Amino acid sequence: MNHAAPPLDPVKLREDFPILSVRVGADPARGDEGVPLVYLDNAATTQRPRSVIQSLVNVYEQSYSNVHRGAHWLSGLSTAGYNAAREKVQEFVNAAHFEEIIFTRGTTEAINLVARSWGDRFCQAGDEIVLTELEHHANLVPWQQLAERVGVKLRTIPIDDRCQLDLEQFDKLLSPRTKLVSFTATSNVTGTITPVVEIIARARRVGAVTLVDAAQSAPHLPTDVRAWGADFVALSGHKMLGPSGIGALYGRRELLASMPPFLGGGGMIDRVWADHFTPGDLPYRFEAGTPAIAPAVGLGAAIDYLNYVGLDAIHAHEQLLTARAHELLADIPGVKIWGPPLEHKAGIVGFTLDGVHPNDIAEVLDQDGIAVRAGHHCAMPLHQRLGVEFTVRASFYFYNTLAEVEQFAKTVAHAQRLFRKR
Ligand code: PMP
Repeated sequence: MNHAAPPLDPVKLREDFPILSVRVGADPARGDEGVPLVYLDNAATTQRPRSVIQSLVNVYEQSYSNVHRGAHWLSGLSTAGYNAAREKVQEFVNAAHFEEIIFTRGTTEAINLVARSWGDRFCQAGDEIVLTELEHHANLVPWQQLAERVGVKLRTIPIDDRCQLDLEQFDKLLSPRTKLVSFTATSNVTGTITPVVEIIARARRVGAVTLVDAAQSAPHLPTDVRAWGADFVALSGHKMLGPSGIGALYGRRELLASMPPFLGGGGMIDRVWADHFTPGDLPYRFEAGTPAIAPAVGLGAAIDYLNYVGLDAIHAHEQLLTARAHELLADIPGVKIWGPPLEHKAGIVGFTLDGVHPNDIAEVLDQDGIAVRAGHHCAMPLHQRLGVEFTVRASFYFYNTLAEVEQFAKTVAHAQRLFRKR
């Protein structure tokens, strides 16, 4: 990581995000001005800069039509915009080929695509799929469903007490039976950054296919499918400044070419007869039906904005915020942060407060205009491993300021005093 990146100016960048100026609880009819929004729920979804919002307006005002099918000028324009967005994703993840990028609704659909298409075609009873204790349900349930369908066995890389993957145990799980290693690049609960290159290298030694869930890493750290050596990588647009309802699957070309379509319908075929069909070329073979045209263009605009800010600068700023959050939370009696040391974590602070329900903390924060999330964050097995039902999660992005982190910690301290008295 290049820590020499020039520091970014969150106050200036915030001006590009209209929603960050809304006032929480404002009710002009009653003369209530509300309080400023402190948005610390970025792991759930980020906000959008004006350029992304405007890109959607531009599509609908100037170039909207269906793609690929229409033999008219407007359809050509729309198709060109849609393909340009795919090129931006290709470049963003450093894929070698345009047809290696499949647009999906998000990470969840991307992983389901692989489980249904690649899994059903290539996995059988006795094969093993290695996951980790850090996984979001999106990278767990599709494999459980595959296990139900074809009888694969799921194995799990455990975490150690610092919420980092135990790679010695990983080595013991690997064998010629290992068909797939599917893991997150960054945990959405503990913020753990996993050693992607190392895990993929070890998986490849036994001939396993690899899938990286990059939902939480792509918005914050470089994604380089070729340097990683990954077979599949999944990401979500809405977590990286883009619209919701759009994401992408990167798949190595040879693998995608060997896989049957996931969904059937228009757009994904070569030819259709009354009783059978032949699938179309990549990437369209995996994009049945009218795609999310404007959201794809919006994702392209989001990538432009991320390139403008710079992922190195984003990561450096988030490290600053996270370090400050750790420092301040450490002073609050009863706070336990669930996660690895700072140098191995992203801008996600998952914590509990002794004797106080996470929902109560979130509520006190909300009254102060601070948006965090309390719950299991779609990672129930991880919470079972940690021995807690729920955690509170504050998650930062480049538009958050040190002042916001300080206000957040102050309000957690207030919650601690409030509930301690009861
Ligand atoms: N994986 C991880 C690590 C996530 O954090 C999320 C979203 N919380 C997902 C997968 C699922 O992403 P989406 O809901 O955008 O499909």
